[in-house]
Amino acid sequence: MLRELLRPDWLHGSTLADLPLQTLLEREVKALVLDVDRTLLPRHRSSLPEAARRWLQMAKAQLPIHLLSNNPSRARIGSVAAQLDLPFTTAAGKPRRSALRRVLQQLDLPHHQVALIGDRLFTDVIAGNRLGLYTVLVKPIDPDGLPCRQDHLQRLELHLARWVGTTLG
Ligand SMILES: [Mg+2]
Repeated sequence: MLRELLRPDWLHGSTLADLPLQTLLEREVKALVLDVDRTLLPRHRSSLPEAARRWLQMAKAQLPIHLLSNNPSRARIGSVAAQLDLPFTTAAGKPRRSALRRVLQQLDLPHHQVALIGDRLFTDVIAGNRLGLYTVLVKPIDPDGLPCRQDHLQRLELHLARWVGTTLG
């Protein structure tokens, strides 16, 4: 059911940089699949906000991380991945499953031990839920690592999700 697919396991009220890593570890998360645009950095920026960089460095020391982006630009996503030496996938086609399946095969973990973290319900959360991942919705990030003020898209998606009957925390 669509309304089930639209429910993140964790509706985080702030950005990735504010997500408590310890809580993910306590929930037996063993690997992270991360959206890039607006989750790690604003769409038209090329360098990571300092708060996001610190979070990623801390997370990378404890877990494997893969960047999974719908953005087709290998130059852009590759340059973000290179800043932290992370593997990445472009043109992932979320909410379709094929690209995410390939990442999961590489990770070789039970799906519920893999967290998919992103800012979009209709791409990131649906893709992760379709394959049984632990899904986390974060607020889009601004250049200072704070929640983006112009957050119309996520607000619209949350509104639509409630309209089709999704119970959101
Ligand atoms: Mg995004």
